[in-house]
Amino acid sequence: MRIGILSIQGSIIEHKNMLKKLDVDTILIKKSEDLDKIDGIIIPGGESTTFLTVLENTGLFKKLQDAIKAGLPAMGTCAGLILLAKRIENHPHQKSLGVLDITVSRNAYGRQRESFSTYLDIPAIGDKPFEAVFIRAPQILDVGKDVKVLGVFMEKPVFVEEKSILGLTFHPELTDDTRIHEYFLQRCIGRNEM
Ligand code: GLN
Repeated sequence: MRIGILSIQGSIIEHKNMLKKLDVDTILIKKSEDLDKIDGIIIPGGESTTFLTVLENTGLFKKLQDAIKAGLPAMGTCAGLILLAKRIENHPHQKSLGVLDITVSRNAYGRQRESFSTYLDIPAIGDKPFEAVFIRAPQILDVGKDVKVLGVFMEKPVFVEEKSILGLTFHPELTDDTRIHEYFLQRCIGRNEM
């Protein structure tokens, strides 16, 4: 199994290190041909507007969108989640891949709480609470009927799943806890066996 990490900016190395700990090979995705070689893709945090500009300039936007629509498992964290979302509330209108049936609001925790960490109960990955690091995080305002909510903070979903797509408003790669990456890998293995 080989997992791609969209490599434009943001916490690329941290995701790579997580997968290394789990003995999984990674490819840093920089051009559209790279997408042919992978069983799943991680879209890291960073700045979603920068991702968009680079995705469009490299021709990756359409190919990535088609691949995920065709079933390539994807995990988007923070800005990655914003890119996956079908609806973004902010003005001016921001384009997205539109593959995950949620509405998001960017930078939604305001200045006081721009960055913080907290412990979340996420039963899907076990009983032990998960330390979630939020950095200028978005909020998920609503989810479509096929979206499962796996984690909640302040009454808002922060970890969701729809088919083989995972979306998180926080950064699971910034702790030592590999359980969310393992959960994603299970989705990627499932696809191999289909
Ligand atoms: N604030 C960023 C955005 O709106 C996301 C921040 C992050 O990925 N940590 O794109």
